[in-house]
Formats: sequence, C-alpha cells, structure tokens
Amino acid sequence: MDPILIKKYNRPIPRYTSYPTVPFWNDQIERTGWENAFTSQFDKENHTNGISLYIHLPFCESLCTYCGCNKKITTNHSVEEAYLLAIEREWKLYRKLMNQTPIIREIHLGGGTPTFFSPENLQRLLNIILKTSIVHPSPAFSIEGHPNNTTKAHLKVLHAMGFRRISYGVQDNDPEVQKIINRIQPLENVKQATENARDVGFNSVNFDLIYGLPFQTVKSIERTFRETIALKPDRIAFYSYAHVPWTSHSQRLFDESHLPDAEEKLKLYLTGKEQLLANGYADIGMDHFALPHDKLYMAWKNGTLHRNFMGYTTQNTGLLVGLGVSSISDIGIAFGQNTKALHDYYQSIHSGNLPVKKGYYLTGEDQDFRKYILDIACKGFTEFHSKNSGTLKRYSFPALDELAHDGLVEYTDRYARLTVTGHYFIRNVCTAFDLKLRRNHSVVQPQIFSKAV
Ligand code: SF4
Repeated sequence: MDPILIKKYNRPIPRYTSYPTVPFWNDQIERTGWENAFTSQFDKENHTNGISLYIHLPFCESLCTYCGCNKKITTNHSVEEAYLLAIEREWKLYRKLMNQTPIIREIHLGGGTPTFFSPENLQRLLNIILKTSIVHPSPAFSIEGHPNNTTKAHLKVLHAMGFRRISYGVQDNDPEVQKIINRIQPLENVKQATENARDVGFNSVNFDLIYGLPFQTVKSIERTFRETIALKPDRIAFYSYAHVPWTSHSQRLFDESHLPDAEEKLKLYLTGKEQLLANGYADIGMDHFALPHDKLYMAWKNGTLHRNFMGYTTQNTGLLVGLGVSSISDIGIAFGQNTKALHDYYQSIHSGNLPVKKGYYLTGEDQDFRKYILDIACKGFTEFHSKNSGTLKRYSFPALDELAHDGLVEYTDRYARLTVTGHYFIRNVCTAFDLKLRRNHSVVQPQIFSKAV
C-alpha cells in the first residue's frame, strides 16, 4: 500500500451501512405511511427471501469510555423484565402489519451487551419471536457477546435456538489500554469465551478490535494481534477509533495527548493488518478480515456478500426489522429508526405505537445509487443498469476521475470496477457515488464521519 495514497485518502467519510447515510434522514416519518410501506414491502419480500431481525439490547454493567453505542449503564438486572415485555409488544405491533407468517432468515442480537440478559431471558426473548414465525431452512443467527460475562449457559441456550455465530468485543489486550478505556478484560476471559463457543458448537467466532485508542503503541498492538491470531477467530473486524467527544461524552475522560497522532494511528493499522494477512486472513474490505473457511470469505469470493446496518453479512433478505430502542429497520424503499431514548421507547410501545422516530424514503435515484455503493462495497464491481436515473452519463463524477487517475478504479459509462489497489480504499470509492454528500457538502460537516484510517 502506497503511504502517499493512504495519506491522501485518509479523510472523514461514511462507513456506508446505509445509503443515504443517517445524517440525511429526518424526523418527518409519518406513522401510517411507515406502516403501509412496511406491509407492502413485507408481502413482496417474505416469501422470496425471508426477513432479517435486529434486536437491540442496550444494557451494560459498566461504561467503556471509548463507546459510541446507544447503551444504558446499570447493574440492576430487574430492567430485563420491562425491556422484554416492550420487545414482545413491539413485535406484536409488527406482526399485526404482516399478512403472512414471517420467515426468519437472519437474527442478530446487538447492544449494549446482549449477554447482560440471563440465559433464561434470552431464551424467552427468542421464543417470543420464533413461536410466531417460520425459521428459514438456511438461517444465520448471531449475537454480540462480552468475553467477561458470556457463560456456557448463554451459549448453550443460544445454540439450541439456532445460533452459530458470535462476535466478541475484544478491542485491545494491553492492560494499560484496558485500564484507560475502563474495559478490564483479561486474555484468559477471551480465551475461555472463545473455547466455550467452539465447544458448544458455534462455527464462526468474530473478534472486534480497535486501533487508535489511548496508550496503544506499535509494540502493544503487535502483541494483541499475536495473542488474537493464536486463538484463530474466524473473522476479525478491525475498526478505527473515532474520537468524537462532542457526541460521545465519555470520551471527554481521555486526555487527548494520550491518543496516537495520525501517523502513529496509521502505523497501528498497518501493523495489525500485516499480521492478519501474513497469517492467512483475507481483507474482505471496510475493516473486515476472514479466514478462507468462513462463510463471510466464501460469500465475498462468490459475489454474494451483502452489507447492512450490522456491517457485512452473508444474507440478503431485502427487509430488516429493527426491534428495541434506537434500532434501525430497512424495508428496501425506506429506513426507519426507533427513538434513542429508553423512556420514549417505552412510552410509545405502551401507547400501542411503533417507536419509529426518524427515517428516510428513498427516491428512484437513491435506490440506483445505493445499489452502486453496495455493489462496490461487496463485489468491487457495479454495472449502471439504471431503472430510474439513466446511466452515469447524466452525472459528472470528478471524484471517480481522480480515483481512476490514482489507479484505484477503472470505469466507463457502463460499469465501475475496483483495481487491486482500490480494494484497500473501498470507502473512498463508495463516496464517489454518494450524490447526497456531494450535493450537500456545505450542510453536512465531514467531522461527523470517522476517517478512512
Ligand atoms: S463498548 Fe459495549 S460493553 Fe462497553 S459500554 Fe459500549 S456497548 Fe457497553
């Protein structure tokens, strides 16, 4: 990788888990409109592909100071009960909008800390969904687990309900880094949680790791990767720490002088990445790595990879229902996000209304450009078969010209393709098709996005 190109393209840009990206959504989502759109899209998608479910479980026992997620810190486990009842009601509201029994192909439990909930309560939660649904013949059920509190009992319950993939938040193994981010997590816990998952029958274990945290050094990250690779997680997500203390207030606890500067951060990234590539991991793109036996790698190789709010996925159902506070639904022609405040979430559910508070209806043009961005992110290639907005000839793409000039992309008026070098700059290439960002550059402050590295 050419360091000059890395420096040039290391800008704040979206991760493209949606297009248009969240800053372009608004709070004008009208309840009846959303419900009608949901019903018609559900009728189209359910029998063709099945549907996906994301359930947000927001509670955590302690605050990791780097965290930018929607979470609620508490050690009081009695909160589980009220939350489960709310999810049950929300699911019933969606079930009323469905004219057929839903075929569930994908479930992801995210957080917060889903393993904050007891094994019995996770089982109850899943029964609420599954007893009123049909499970697709090739399901993909996954959960985010905390290495400190994921027990064998959790894993057994989840495995019995069809879960085969778990993602552990590892972040960094260095004790000094763990202390400052307030996430003390001995390597022994990570080892044990990984072994337990495999013993129980999970066939894909993912580790999330972060670079750019306070006190990280090339030496410390080398060690974290050595220890990680020894455990052979099937997938690794290696994210850039986004320092946004104006939105994530706990990050104000960091002394900024302890954060690695841009050059050091780049070194951290390259150190981790080189170790992964040297040990058989493939760079799937946008921070994700996988071993060749993993389904994510296979989907990437055979061109069936998909991307949604959960990042890369092997399933493409066309309809994702988000349950729980702050969850996002994607019904193909529109996005809807639940309210982010727990109190408002409960209030909405208890008055019998879906808690969708923010969203976006896609125009024909948005749908075309979303497809181009998804194709580039997942397959490295897109064809301009536009139903709604004509070929690229109608648009001018100075960014694409520049990317082609730098050897990252080849394109004509019929297609665009990443080059070998361009594969390392996927987010930048996606940005070339982000009409919203380009047309509204003066409105959306680039600082709201994290840097490419
Ligand atoms: S990083 Fe995870 S465990 Fe830590 S506070 Fe955030 S959501 Fe909770």
